[in-house]
Amino acid sequence: MIKTKALVLKYTNMNDNDRLFTVFCPEHGKISAISKGIRSHKHKDFAALQPFCYSELVIDNSRGLGYISSAQILESFFELRSGVEKMSLAAYVADLVSNLADEIMYDDEFFRFTLNTLFMIAKAADGSKLTLNDELVRLKTIYELKVICTSGYMPQLQSCMCCGSDKSLEYFDLYGGGAVCTSCHDKGFAPESCEVTDSVLKMMSYICQSDDKSVFKFSASPETIDLAAKISEEYLINKLEIVSARLEYFKNIIKA
Ligand SMILES: [Zn+2]
Repeated sequence: MIKTKALVLKYTNMNDNDRLFTVFCPEHGKISAISKGIRSHKHKDFAALQPFCYSELVIDNSRGLGYISSAQILESFFELRSGVEKMSLAAYVADLVSNLADEIMYDDEFFRFTLNTLFMIAKAADGSKLTLNDELVRLKTIYELKVICTSGYMPQLQSCMCCGSDKSLEYFDLYGGGAVCTSCHDKGFAPESCEVTDSVLKMMSYICQSDDKSVFKFSASPETIDLAAKISEEYLINKLEIVSARLEYFKNIIKA
């Protein structure tokens, strides 16, 4: 029997009444466990086992497979459900976590950072500087870059990854993961690179170097956020090989 705090990532339906859940816990990483009869709305744990709920679970694992015997809501993030834009970004975050290597799942800081990200998505709103959609793209980029760094692929952003120069850093190598100077780029190094601006490199550096609380506290223009978002998602796909249908869905929703 284990008692644990957990973030509900996803479920699949089983039989007529049951569901197999994947949950993310601070001490145990990802766990799969079944809840019997949960497909009935009248089930006592129905609300606490909705996707993105942060709940306290009691799991009976005495029979090999884990069975959830009780679930209590700690935080429902109910504002995530206020719009399809927020829902689709939360779904992408849950999908990324579901696909991450098990080793990094036991990092308590990463667990808290994932909760903080869901909290920020839930609270996101049209502000004085950014529209809701731009703010969501900003949060997506922060989450992706932190996932990349936690997985051990922190990009080199202060100097050229080919020659070490800190001048004319105008490209980003989407495979190597770092800034490239114009001189190296023109010589044909890092052919898989894209153009990048100084403000994009600054934004990415800030995210990579900040702790999980201060990382959300910066502002950037919509253009800077947009380019950093394209770079972070492409670099993440190249390094972690996580191709998420949820990402495509989120991007289509934001564009619409
Ligand atoms: Zn160079």
